[in-house]
Amino acid sequence: MVDELIAESKALNDPADIETVSLDQAINRILAEDILSPIDVPSADNSAMDGFAFNSKCLETNAPEITLTVVGTAFAGKPYEGSVGEGQCLKIMTGALMPADCDTVIPQEFTESGDNILIRFKQNQVKSGENRRLRGEDLQKGKPAIAAGRLLRPSDLGLAASLGIATLKVNRKLKVAILSSGDELRSLGQALENGSIYDSNRYSLTGLLNRLNLEIIDCGIVRDDPASLKAAFCEAAKHADVLISSGGVSVGEADFTKQIMQELGDVGFWKIAMRPGRPMAFGMLRPVPGKSPARKTLFFGLPGNPVAVMVTFYQFVRAALLQLNGAKQTEPVLTQAISEFPIRKKPGRTEFQRAILGRSPDGKPAVKLTGSQGAGILRSMSEANCFVILQHDQGNIAAGEWVDIALFDGLL
Ligand code: AMP
Ligand code: MG
Repeated sequence: MVDELIAESKALNDPADIETVSLDQAINRILAEDILSPIDVPSADNSAMDGFAFNSKCLETNAPEITLTVVGTAFAGKPYEGSVGEGQCLKIMTGALMPADCDTVIPQEFTESGDNILIRFKQNQVKSGENRRLRGEDLQKGKPAIAAGRLLRPSDLGLAASLGIATLKVNRKLKVAILSSGDELRSLGQALENGSIYDSNRYSLTGLLNRLNLEIIDCGIVRDDPASLKAAFCEAAKHADVLISSGGVSVGEADFTKQIMQELGDVGFWKIAMRPGRPMAFGMLRPVPGKSPARKTLFFGLPGNPVAVMVTFYQFVRAALLQLNGAKQTEPVLTQAISEFPIRKKPGRTEFQRAILGRSPDGKPAVKLTGSQGAGILRSMSEANCFVILQHDQGNIAAGEWVDIALFDGLL
């Protein structure tokens, strides 16, 4: 159902949804068109090392040692204009142009130099063509450099800059409305009374969405009454591509949401075999009259428990948002680590436990859980740097067993 609705809603599929941004604004945006390299990279043969460039014909010898005369120096951005003949070499810096007569570089540290006029090195220290970067070896002119649908990372921006490209066409930011539902919720700055609590989901969701560089429409706290909920849903349907709510989908409250959603769109309620995050709703709001373009608003009704919000976001919402925004690669990378302690686990549901990844005494990647794992205990998320993901059929985990993990933060 999720995939079908995403395909149907096609939030960002027309040219009006593409915008041009400068490289310094492009991080985490989604590239809207293939970038073909307008140049060869590198644009000319150049040295990969600080050393001496020479013609490799001189290596065709039985003599154990080679002696060459240094005829000049080439710097990056300051090429050597003369020629390099037989028995000669050129002192060359990394990135400096290779002279036409030379095809090989011997790194400086492999040479002995009496007086900087003659250098000596062992014949077997270097092979023909080594330590030279060839024109176009990184990227040939006209070849694809970055494919459309790429979630742009720092290296992509550097790559675009290395091609002389100053602006990129990217998909516009997805507009995502968020709301927190519950009579017990208070905004920051308000007094807490009678068992009320601060609305923390708004901020963890905002943080999660900001990581994806989306436009956030904050619909605030919505009371547990049909009129307020309907008004908030209508507001989201008017402006947003996606609505994410937290709370109000557990037994009892779900009826409420269901009733309103029947009027405004379509929704399904799911009891998912996962922990935390069992109750969830997913559906769509029909476009309200006057919405332009007339598109459905996808609706994710997440559970209210603060950890469950983050886990269900990770498991269901994140990839959907990226896909809607036109990203090709949406799956986070899983890896494995050794569990330092036993973990209790019932087969028949997928569990997302919060953990700290470090190293075992013998240097292997190792995880330990961050204390109590209740769905409402946000500290267990805050202290963690990864999920331990225990698969549906897995049972108890013994200390020393390998488990799947997903890291919270990307590095580059
Ligand atoms: P619910 O899914 O509405 O039954 O909520 C489950 C639990 O999460 C309850 O203890 C709620 O008080 C709590 N909760 C719901 N929404 C929020 C929120 N926005 N911030 C913090 N806790 C919440
Ligand atoms: Mg509630």
